[in-house]
Amino acid sequence: MAGYREFHRRSIEDRDGFWAEQAKLIDWHKPFGKVLEYARPPFAKWFVGGETNLCHNALDRHLAARGEQKALVWISTEVNQEKSFTYREVHAEVQRVAAMMVSLGVKKGDRVIIYMPMVPEAFFAMLACARIGAVHSVVFGGFAAASLAARIDDARPSLMLTADGGSRMGKTVLYKPLVDESLRLAKNPPAKVLILRRGFDVNMRNVAGRDVDWQELAAQHAGARVACTWVESNEPSYILYTSGTTGQPKGVQRDVGGYAVALAASMKHIFCGDAGETMFTTSDIGWVVGHSYIVYAPLLAGMTTIMYEGVPVRPDAGIWWKIVQDHRANVMFSAPTAIRVLKKQDPAYLSKYDLSSLKHLFLAGEPLDEPTHQWIAEALKKPVVDHYWQTESGWPILSAMPGVEKTPLKYGSPSFAVYGYDLRLLRESDASEAGADEKAVVAIVPPLPPGCMSTVWGDDERFVKTYFSNFSKKMVYSTFDWGIRDQDGYYFILGRTDDVINVAGHRLGTREIEEAVSMHANIAECAVVGVADALKGQMPLAFAVAKDTSKLVSAEGRKHLEKEVMQTVDNQLGAIARPRAVHFVTLLPKTRSGKTLRRLIQALAEGRDPGDLTTIEDPGALEQIRNSLKEG
Ligand code: AMP
Repeated sequence: MAGYREFHRRSIEDRDGFWAEQAKLIDWHKPFGKVLEYARPPFAKWFVGGETNLCHNALDRHLAARGEQKALVWISTEVNQEKSFTYREVHAEVQRVAAMMVSLGVKKGDRVIIYMPMVPEAFFAMLACARIGAVHSVVFGGFAAASLAARIDDARPSLMLTADGGSRMGKTVLYKPLVDESLRLAKNPPAKVLILRRGFDVNMRNVAGRDVDWQELAAQHAGARVACTWVESNEPSYILYTSGTTGQPKGVQRDVGGYAVALAASMKHIFCGDAGETMFTTSDIGWVVGHSYIVYAPLLAGMTTIMYEGVPVRPDAGIWWKIVQDHRANVMFSAPTAIRVLKKQDPAYLSKYDLSSLKHLFLAGEPLDEPTHQWIAEALKKPVVDHYWQTESGWPILSAMPGVEKTPLKYGSPSFAVYGYDLRLLRESDASEAGADEKAVVAIVPPLPPGCMSTVWGDDERFVKTYFSNFSKKMVYSTFDWGIRDQDGYYFILGRTDDVINVAGHRLGTREIEEAVSMHANIAECAVVGVADALKGQMPLAFAVAKDTSKLVSAEGRKHLEKEVMQTVDNQLGAIARPRAVHFVTLLPKTRSGKTLRRLIQALAEGRDPGDLTTIEDPGALEQIRNSLKEG
């Protein structure tokens, strides 16, 4: 491991030298004066004074050498269409969308919310924002109106981009009514909404003065030329909201220069994606993986990127492997839940296609269990790289780095600390360093490397308080994950230290779900915990106290209220946050000071020993949880 060790050592001990070298992977309009400015810990400024542009680096600089190479291949098994765009074509489309946004008044620094299905226009829109220095905030299409409204109020966009609808598993999902509702709920709605018609909603009605038809406006801007706006490296490129332990989602703010350098370097050292090759990332542009590894990184590297609208099992469970074969994909990035879904299907799908182009499969977003890791590695006969990161980091924190050194992989382990991260395992009690095989908190000694979040949008104090105040003795970044390092130095991630759960790779705050459950008029209070799920990793489970219990005496009455509560969660947050079940009790287990004992509830729900019960105020509450679980 000498190659990896030396690479990592240098990235920490000679930070400036190391990152100055990586910074050569991108174009700078104006060179930076300082690699790192760290005068106000924990706020790190990278490549200070340098001017660049993400869109220039993703598109313009490749035009001479690879203008006719495919930049984007869009495949939809929902509408049975496939379209390819060369670098030159994407360049033209992006300029057209940029011109459209400028015509609607968008200026540098303005926020643009993108609430769209997986269509090429959404891809162009992200790059168009980058081109004109606007700050995009992509909101995952599965989020409900209230969630969208909360993000609108926080980001205060001047423009919102959406579509009439999308499709999931062949079923139409309308976007426009939900957008209308979110704009009704928002205190600071944008003045303009640009709507792409896909033909999903023939009765769609535009709001006069606010709604603008995408296709009509696009026709007016055919052939438009919009120059890149050069921005200082530390200006914001985007905001991406993520769940935490409070009900209020955090806007993860990212910079421009540091992000471009980090992504370009990751393609070289981690993902081994070369110019002219093809990358297939199966995520959605609404998540950080989609931002980094569907849109920006593959283009920064001069690759062809595949954007897929659909699910892994439709028309059949071979669809992803067929895509790899047909497009000669070299690098693939997916999530453990998807692999667990495929594992339940006929293994013949994996041997049916020619996967010889594929170099690696990378998996991230949630714990990758050993059996799934082993199964997919043996079935593919390719290295399957588990790697660990977060919305906040924007690129891997723990991973094997085959571009640096081909270290042996261990099933269930995301290998080692990635260069740039001064990673530590710290004891929760006193922030001292844990030994081998000792469970501790995964922490990063700041400054965070390039590409990581710069702050919480509009709230520097929250950035420091949330991430850097976990240990009173040391100002370190807490990942809020438990981890362990074995005798050979390999890391294993053991789950969250906070009340955040991970459902099929998507992070959800239990507090957020509790707030949504409590929106039902007949719910007095509730507790939501994450319980182990064989397919999705975890699922939320709710325990609720009803105000009026008269209807809960019958099983039908309970079922009815459960259904209503689930509907409330769907309306507030979206179906991704819907609890697996809602159990009704008359009191929740709490400490004497009134804190809900979620861990205890979780232990019971997962059939584990709840451990120390001395802090509980009324043991009767536990009996109720047990009984309600038995009733199922
Ligand atoms: P998100 O920001 O939504 O991508 O969620 C990040 C969280 O997902 C991390 O803090 C971990 O809890 C979990 N996670 C991501 N990748 C992995 C992995 N490879 N192994 C275990 N947990 C992971």
